[in-house]
Amino acid sequence: MNQNQHYKFELMPLSYPYDALEPYIDQRTVRIHHDGHLKTYVNNLNNTLEPYPKYHDWTLEKLIIFNRILPKKIQTPVRHNAGGVYNHQLYFNIMSPHSDKSDAKRLMPEIEKQIGSYEEFADKFKKSALDVFGSGYAWLAMDRNGHLKIINTANQDTVLTINLCPVLLIDVWEHAYYLKYQNKRSDYIDNWFNIINWEQAEKNFIDCLRNFKLER
Ligand code: MN
Repeated sequence: MNQNQHYKFELMPLSYPYDALEPYIDQRTVRIHHDGHLKTYVNNLNNTLEPYPKYHDWTLEKLIIFNRILPKKIQTPVRHNAGGVYNHQLYFNIMSPHSDKSDAKRLMPEIEKQIGSYEEFADKFKKSALDVFGSGYAWLAMDRNGHLKIINTANQDTVLTINLCPVLLIDVWEHAYYLKYQNKRSDYIDNWFNIINWEQAEKNFIDCLRNFKLER
């Protein structure tokens, strides 16, 4: 995933067809979520930054982490929309019709060592995702000591601002599941575990180790 992009941001194409996540996530939801919601975050971020060429070479991560350096007037819209782009790119990339835990060659043993068996991890992650009140995300993220944490964020907040590196996340805004699951967030989460792109999660995990200079 190209997180080095900067203004003018573009809508990241999906790496799978709209219907590839069926039956777990229906194609109408994927289409509206990607072409509607994510596109809107991209457009709003570009519109917000357009009059400020000084920040046109800032990456998404920089816009998020150094938000407080930006002019007061654009801090909030940049936080919401850069977060919206960043989180959704992670989310769409962390899903795949080819979900194979054995692709997480280094990550899975680390989950087992630090959190518990896969079943225990899934149980804890689900409980956390159910705890998100209103809109937000549940994450598996790494701290600078290599510790894996399950953590929630609200709205379009990210884990970058609390010095964590993202490994995987689930979007639990209602727009991520309402068309198919209505109020049954629990069923959406259960099904989501069938479409985790473990190959991408492994890549994210290794990127985190490198970012924190923990790569052995
Ligand atoms: Mn969303």
